Amino acid sequence: MELTARFVRSALAISDCPRSDRVEAAFAGRSNVGKSSLLNAVTGIKGLARTSKTPGRTRSINFFDTAGRLTLVDLPGFGYAKIGRANAANITRLLFDYLARRENLAALVILVDGRRGPQEEEIALAQAVRGRRLEVVVVATKWDKLRNSQRGPALQSFVPIGLEPIPCSILSGEGIEALRHRLIDLAQQYPAPTRDAD
Ligand code: GDP
Repeated sequence: MELTARFVRSALAISDCPRSDRVEAAFAGRSNVGKSSLLNAVTGIKGLARTSKTPGRTRSINFFDTAGRLTLVDLPGFGYAKIGRANAANITRLLFDYLARRENLAALVILVDGRRGPQEEEIALAQAVRGRRLEVVVVATKWDKLRNSQRGPALQSFVPIGLEPIPCSILSGEGIEALRHRLIDLAQQYPAPTRDAD
């Protein structure tokens, strides 16, 4: 099944986020975790989310509408050393504001490097939405980089985040279809409102 999407807008503040009745599945993770690559892979659109680090784009929230009512949201990556402490604090504020206040948010996809497992920051993301009725999906990225013998212990390292991850690799393709299905299922829970005939 396909999940096509197109870029609609970047927002540097919650007040810049589009006003709509669309539902959002937001992708969050540390810089370099493979977020852009994964967004490109699930939508099948190369370059949808830039894999190269475009200044500006990486600091903003980016919205990509799918054909249905679902919007995919690329949240700013955190933990990028080169942006400086003040910028990092602004990005963190924007990210957590979005997670706490964005009414359209229906699902949060937390990306974790499969080799590192969840750290304090990723657990904080899961905790930030705990009080909200959201679907939370955890993805273990770059799964191709782990040897078979490393995979069991790596999966064990996800226990503290409280959710079993979907292991994904954009190289082998593993997990991409499973993730796309979760998103399509979500989209189907929110069919487009039927318009009154007039
Ligand atoms: P972002 O900063 O989270 O958007 O990360 P990118 O998507 O730009 O990816 C960061 C780097 O990791 C790039 O060099 C990608 O090619 C690489 N990468 C992303 N996903 C995978 C994967 O599944 N396997 C491997 N081996 N490399 C990956």
